[in-house]
Amino acid sequence: MKVLIATPEAIPFVKTGGLADVTGSLVRELIEMGVDARLVMPLYREVKNKLHLNDTGHRVTVPVGNKKYVSRIFSYNESVFFLECDEFFDRDELYGTSYGDYADNAYRFIFFSMAVLESCKVTGFVPDILHCNDWQTGLIPLYVKTVYRKPFRRTATLMTVHNIGYQGIFPASAMPLTGLGPELFTPEWIEYYGQVNFLKAGIVAADGVNTVSMNYAGEIMTEQYGFGLEGVLKNRARSVTGIINGIDYSIWDPAVDGSIPANYDAANISGKKKCKGYLAKGWSFKDKKAPLACMIGRLSSQKGIDIFLDAADRVFSLGINIVVLGKGEEALHKRLKKVAKRYPENFSLHITYDEALAHRIYAGSDMFLMPSKYEPCGLTQMIAMRYGAVPVARATGGIADTVEDYDHLRGKGTGFLFADYSAPALEECLKRAVCVYTDRTRWEGLVKSCMEADFSWTSSAKKYKALYRTLARKVAR
Ligand code: ADP
Repeated sequence: MKVLIATPEAIPFVKTGGLADVTGSLVRELIEMGVDARLVMPLYREVKNKLHLNDTGHRVTVPVGNKKYVSRIFSYNESVFFLECDEFFDRDELYGTSYGDYADNAYRFIFFSMAVLESCKVTGFVPDILHCNDWQTGLIPLYVKTVYRKPFRRTATLMTVHNIGYQGIFPASAMPLTGLGPELFTPEWIEYYGQVNFLKAGIVAADGVNTVSMNYAGEIMTEQYGFGLEGVLKNRARSVTGIINGIDYSIWDPAVDGSIPANYDAANISGKKKCKGYLAKGWSFKDKKAPLACMIGRLSSQKGIDIFLDAADRVFSLGINIVVLGKGEEALHKRLKKVAKRYPENFSLHITYDEALAHRIYAGSDMFLMPSKYEPCGLTQMIAMRYGAVPVARATGGIADTVEDYDHLRGKGTGFLFADYSAPALEECLKRAVCVYTDRTRWEGLVKSCMEADFSWTSSAKKYKALYRTLARKVAR
């Protein structure tokens, strides 16, 4: 079975969020399982600058609007392909800056979607499965069903929705740029309230649709979580599945992690105390022994930063220290900076993207705060658990599928969950966690349960392989 994963980002090349972890880990796992899998992505500046790539000698020409773009195809380790177009991808960021998206994102990802299909033709790798990820690749399934039908008639497409909050919605004027006929500008296809919606195109046209947790698969068919696409998804309910992401154990393993000051595992967590001690060095925490909770992630309203900010005064009165590592919306940066000023002895704020620091924070923290408004899967709570940082999180999306609320009577569970999206609910939950923290035996048992939970990629990759098989059979019929 030939599989091509088309994605706007993947580790270890470029990453803005969990999507990169998923695509990069999945392709590697599939190859290890013997699948003929490849990955294709845009050639961004960051990749060009840091890697020596092989020029395959293949070129594709892609028309977007009135202009034709010639793209060189580069490869890395024979399984990852990069499509070059400096006009679109030789930039500092992937999709935009903290002030907003790039104005030409429609052009950029129309180009990429078509270039993926053209590259299959010129390289002769016409896959059985074309696995598309998020709105940036949403046009691909529609192209395969229409203008590219002939060369891809045996190709099944899978559209994975990693986050339905990002849909790639553009004005109707983007329609002619796509090269698709105007007859597709209807509610059955790409049209969405008078605009063009790339993710919707993928959902309606793909042979299969999946998302990154079972719980989120159900949630996105509701008004609360569907971001307007709930009806479209309900129409396809029989083809929508959920597969939880794994985490990459070669990157996230406190027993061998070279970025942390002391290694440890579930059998002996003494190294974790050292990690905590080292972490706070140089920070101005007054009581360095107080419980330390961390937040790591994109600073976007999705992540529940606003309820954390609303709860801040009462949270700090619980006698805990908090460290935040993240980057995102300017307005949230400002509000967080204000809190950091108010609580210099309890709060350490790092507005940056820093992977090594993220490893040290996961290892040195007692708790992981995740008050997400919605969370398709969430990798950070799983990484945190692997490093023995107990989640204090909102039971939404993949969090509800991966964290088991602590049952005080039975001494069982892997974290503390709350339901309401509100500051008081977050506070109450954190209070519960702090209370258990004071009982060392209980807490260490909880830390161990977290560390022993299995979030390896192996079982998720097997599920993808099974789904690919089902879709390939569907198309062969
Ligand atoms: P999302 O995809 O919504 O951004 P996930 O929880 O799925 O969130 O994945 C986030 C990934 O990005 C995790 O691997 C997390 O450690 C990493 N990450 C997020 N923000 C930062 C940051 N500021 N510095 C380092 N790593 C980060």
